[in-house]
Amino acid sequence: GSSLELVNSGKLTTCTHLPYEPFQSRQDNKIVGFDVDLVDLVAKELKVTQEIVDTPFEGIQTGEDLNARKCDVAAAGMTITDVREENLDFSAPYFEATQALLTKKGAAFDSLESLKGKKLGVQQGTTGEEYAKKNGPGVETVQFEDLALLLTAVKTGQVDAAVNDNGVLFEYVRKNADTEVTAEFKTGEQYGVGVRTGNDALRKEIDKVIKAAKSDGRYDAIYKKWFPA
Ligand code: GLN
Repeated sequence: GSSLELVNSGKLTTCTHLPYEPFQSRQDNKIVGFDVDLVDLVAKELKVTQEIVDTPFEGIQTGEDLNARKCDVAAAGMTITDVREENLDFSAPYFEATQALLTKKGAAFDSLESLKGKKLGVQQGTTGEEYAKKNGPGVETVQFEDLALLLTAVKTGQVDAAVNDNGVLFEYVRKNADTEVTAEFKTGEQYGVGVRTGNDALRKEIDKVIKAAKSDGRYDAIYKKWFPA
């Protein structure tokens, strides 16, 4: 069938990096989230099932995993950037994001300027790391491999603050009342689903599904499910 030419093996394999709640996380031993639901719509359209591969973000964002055929798509709350476009292709944008600052409640750090001489946690290989390094001279950045380690470091005081995407930080604050988001940096990012460079057939299927889902209410339903007002 024509749909099978688009993917590896009768399955749609997705590279992602856990946890990145509410986009992807493990709950009751199941991997769930906004990105999972979105890619499920694509899998449904292709009449295959989605299989998720949890793998470090570095190999995802460099295109290495896609090129090595570790997976058909990459869905990891991943921002579309010019550098990444050199190594993989992106679907149409599916989510708007910006960088934000997380601190313990009452810590009074509300800008990179205020963190001079302090420790700022960043997640390795992310746009947040890049933003912090470019815009925070004199701020000591501390790298973490994943979001869970980064968030825990804020909670335990190992770092004074952390930079990451607004969606995941607001989700954390909602569940951790001893933390707060004190700034948003308006980086104007957009998430895209990654495919191997030149896999236009699959990329166009994804775009078609995103477009249809945005106009028929399925996108809104996913949004409301993962970002309850
Ligand atoms: N959106 C950020 C980026 O693309 C963070 C993604 C992530 O950590 N999963 O770099």
